[in-house]
Amino acid sequence: MKQKVLILGAGYAGSVVANILAREFRNKIAKDELEVTILDKNDTNINQGGFTFIPFELYTPEDITRPRKKLISPRVKAFFGADGEVKAVDLQNKEVTVKSDNKYNYDYLVIAMGCRADINAVSGLTDDLNTFYTSMEDAFKVRDIVKNLDGGKVAVSVASMPVPCPGAPVKFTFMLDSYLRNVKKNRDDVQLTLLWPMEPIGPPEFNKFVTSQFKEKGVEVVRNFPLENVDAANKELTSKNGDKVNYDTLITVPPHKAPQVLIDSGLTDEKGWIGADKSTLQYRGPAGNHDNVYVLGDLGPADILKTGIGAHYQAIAVSQSLKNDIHGNGIQTPYEGETGCPLVTELETPATPGRGYIATWKYSKPPEAFSTTKMGWFLYRMYYHIHWDISVKGLF
Ligand SMILES: Cc1cc2nc3c(=O)[nH]c(=O)nc-3n(C[C@H](O)[C@H](O)[C@H](O)COP(=O)(O)OP(=O)(O)OC[C@H]3O[C@@H](n4cnc5c(N)ncnc54)[C@H](O)[C@@H]3O)c2cc1C
Repeated sequence: MKQKVLILGAGYAGSVVANILAREFRNKIAKDELEVTILDKNDTNINQGGFTFIPFELYTPEDITRPRKKLISPRVKAFFGADGEVKAVDLQNKEVTVKSDNKYNYDYLVIAMGCRADINAVSGLTDDLNTFYTSMEDAFKVRDIVKNLDGGKVAVSVASMPVPCPGAPVKFTFMLDSYLRNVKKNRDDVQLTLLWPMEPIGPPEFNKFVTSQFKEKGVEVVRNFPLENVDAANKELTSKNGDKVNYDTLITVPPHKAPQVLIDSGLTDEKGWIGADKSTLQYRGPAGNHDNVYVLGDLGPADILKTGIGAHYQAIAVSQSLKNDIHGNGIQTPYEGETGCPLVTELETPATPGRGYIATWKYSKPPEAFSTTKMGWFLYRMYYHIHWDISVKGLF
């Protein structure tokens, strides 16, 4: 009897799983013994990591977008748009309904629909919303703000955790410092402040390094500032602890949550994220325990760090477990928490070499002491060009 794998979301994690399965099971797919189907609400894949660099004109929209059909193996059945936009997920009946009312059933389900900004979760935020987190268009608006920045107090506020790539606002702040210092040459006219919702910025060695760099570069860091209210008229931010900070220009990373359709389908935990075993990534939540349902990428449990690097390792672990399931040995391949946070502390400018580092770690092994390097900058910049043909295709 034909087995069916259904993947929801053709972003980073979903595409990797689809491509690995298509390679492994090319014979079964050709003999119609296995069907791999992937769904997405639209047909363009965006590497969101590039949004952090758009304000400094380091990548173009062409660099960070690709048509999904060029990224997904032709052995996979792909439906984008109304036939791919998930409207309801019913784990009990193993059935997914999409916007066009088509229904898909499955033996194995992979939920990889990412997360999204919830801009209404902070009162007043929409009155002064400038963010590079939500879309290409919004990242370009931040580009214009950065280009025209002539002075005053700039606040970069991370409203709450978890968010995708919590390191992105950190490197954005360093790049803004470098841009103002070395390109616009008006850094002394700008007071730059990072507002962070908790005490540490990442694991201990990461926190230690960025703290020393912020101090060296004259960036003020206000910790334990979970954003509660934006008073755009008076340019004043209030934290959940009642602390207040004034600003002239505000750049925000809004709170995030799982896609509404998954919340409405009753799949999320009390924090609004999809519950899963942190090792096997099998669904464990209010809709019961489902060993045939895997949850990965940005929508996974709140306490699994949400990064593209993590999504990649999760996709590899889930693909291996699915291979084992379909081959019939049922061995689960653990995700060991492999993740990472690419950091940039200096832009490549006429006055400075770029400096970067890709800090990596896993559940059992936090990052070791590190420093950013010229080579790290080069590797990180280069990565964006190999992302499409190596990483998304699941070749490593
Ligand atoms: C500003 C920014 C900077 C970042 N920088 C980095 C970085 O430097 N390094 C790093 O490792 N990570 C970075 N990340 C994080 C990285 O982009 C994510 O962790 C990664 O994309 C997660 O992959 P995913 O497959 O879970 O989600 P996504 O890649 O977001 O894919 C989810 C897919 O689900 C689809 N979808 C959603 N709802 C539906 C629906 N109802 N029906 C059908 N399809 C749906 C979406 O269209 C999308 O294609 C950054 C993220 C941001 C926002």
